[in-house]
Amino acid sequence: MSPIRCEIVTQERVVYDQEVDMVIAPGSEGELGILPHHVPLLTALAAGELRLRLGDDESSFAIGGGFMEVQPDHVMILATAAEQADEIDIERAEAARERAERLLKEGLPSDPGRFKRIEAALRRSRVRLRVARRRRRRPGPGPMMEATE
Ligand code: ATP
Repeated sequence: MSPIRCEIVTQERVVYDQEVDMVIAPGSEGELGILPHHVPLLTALAAGELRLRLGDDESSFAIGGGFMEVQPDHVMILATAAEQADEIDIERAEAARERAERLLKEGLPSDPGRFKRIEAALRRSRVRLRVARRRRRRPGPGPMMEATE
């Protein structure tokens, strides 16, 4: 099958721009698998893991949330934050998780907006830790050399 171009962009940088065989994205309603020739689609993304398949290789990214626009030959992901698995600073993500857990343990903030922000930070940190640790359990010299599950 012909590949599909996948771009992952944040406000800060182009995180990824290559042709892949399949995009597996954390849609706000659940995981979405996108193959070439998919029907056009615009959807919100949740904080979660984004996986790209190319042959037998798979690359994994932590996504903070955002939007995904699908065209038959092109997937555009606009993410609030995105890091490829080997870019994730585990200590930073652990510190973020501990900070959010401590704030939630100290009691529910009376401001519901603040509560949501802490919860969202906790979710982002957990996604980063999961993506980073999953990659480190796999063999292979680089992110594009990993075995699929
Ligand atoms: P922190 O509290 O550690 O800043 P955060 O969840 O508030 O974490 P974001 O607002 O999601 O951070 O992201 C801000 C920027 O920092 C983005 O460019 C994101 O890619 C980067 N970033 C955040 N955490 C990490 C991490 N653990 N490793 C690598 N980059 C990170």
